[in-house]
Amino acid sequence: MNYFSLNNREHTSNFENAVVRGLAPDKGLYFPQLIEKLPKSFFSEIRSMDNTEIAFEVIKNYVGEEISDSALKDIIADTLDFDFPVVDVEKNVGSLELFHGPTLAFKDVGARFMAGSLGYFIKKGKLGNITVLVATSGDTGGAVANGFLGVEGIDVVILYPKGKVSEIQEKQLTTLGQNIVALEVDGAFDECQDMVKRAFLDDEIQQKRQLTSANSINVARWLPQMFYYFLAYKQLAKEGRKLAFSVPSGNFGNICAGLLAREMGLPIDHFIASNNANNVVTRYLENGNYQPTASVQTISNAMDVGNPSNFVRVLELFQNEFGNLKEYLSSYSFDDLATKMAIKEVFDKTGYIMDPHGAVGYLGLQEFLKKNENYYGTFLETAHPVKFLDTVEEAIGQKVAIPDSIESIMHKEKKFHQISNYDELKSYLLS
Ligand SMILES: *Cc1c(COP(=O)(O)O)cnc(C)c1O
Repeated sequence: MNYFSLNNREHTSNFENAVVRGLAPDKGLYFPQLIEKLPKSFFSEIRSMDNTEIAFEVIKNYVGEEISDSALKDIIADTLDFDFPVVDVEKNVGSLELFHGPTLAFKDVGARFMAGSLGYFIKKGKLGNITVLVATSGDTGGAVANGFLGVEGIDVVILYPKGKVSEIQEKQLTTLGQNIVALEVDGAFDECQDMVKRAFLDDEIQQKRQLTSANSINVARWLPQMFYYFLAYKQLAKEGRKLAFSVPSGNFGNICAGLLAREMGLPIDHFIASNNANNVVTRYLENGNYQPTASVQTISNAMDVGNPSNFVRVLELFQNEFGNLKEYLSSYSFDDLATKMAIKEVFDKTGYIMDPHGAVGYLGLQEFLKKNENYYGTFLETAHPVKFLDTVEEAIGQKVAIPDSIESIMHKEKKFHQISNYDELKSYLLS
């Protein structure tokens, strides 16, 4: 399979190079040249297939010959080593729980698949060692650290803003050791991101280290996010039932994977991009004007994105046809107060505890279902509520039980280096 750069269709790459580079040399995002429909028989048999088989059929053409079938199946089996249940919350409303992985967020899926693919390419021997350099506002760092832990030939360097990630998130970044290094930056997330971007353009660093990024622009993180839409369909498929999925969105990688799954024939009738106050896409769908802005801080902080990097892929999927896009995609935006009230109301009514991101997804779904009663709606629960303990406990007025896996890391010692400017990052990377 080849990929082209969304900045210039003539600039192409195979899967391996696209994974190693992250972005095309012209800074465009990679996009698959061919999106093949899955055969009808796949959907009639999906209920009797196991999760690894399903995922293998979904992704094999995007990987091509570059990873052997048996190695690809192993990577998938490791990636999907936990449950993806759709839990009934209310009549005709379900929660697709994506938080049963090691760091309790959906990013585990993409991070593990990318780590498996990159680890495989390094083992083949041509690449040499690689440094994964990534900035995190919270969940990406933990998922990437966990996914790449112990993968030979890969060093991981994570930059996170001092005092701006939750305690659990910080523990997930700083307690692993081995090939994972955490750098605490005296600054905001934007400064971490800027330093990472600068390092990618720095020749001195490039001569010393082969750098790659592990955010959702990388095809090896983006594409496996299709898996759980198929796994949800396996649980939800019923003759004549119309399905809508609401996806709490920040950089739009997750929803874009769902839209790609639809393009491959997955019978999902409608998507809802649920936004917090960072609502550039909601406004775009209202008035056709795409106006990125600076992000604002909210309680669903993984979605605090003012210029969603994957939205160009969404537009490409719909050939940049606004009318076509509007038929399959709705978008709504909610502020923090509405989000907290939704957490409380759903808990009071049903006992189900949502995290702030899932709650935004729930609200978007409700808005859609008001006018479309004949659907079964699923919202994606993208993180476990304990990752946002203070907000959730305040909203429901009760303590939330902490899973054992988290309890155990809370006692581990944090290890990190402190940096406060680019020169300090650079000398770390050159040392
Ligand atoms: C990253 C993240 C999101 C946003 O996903 P995108 O693919 O960037 O749209 C939503 N919820 C949680 C909990 C996240 O960590």
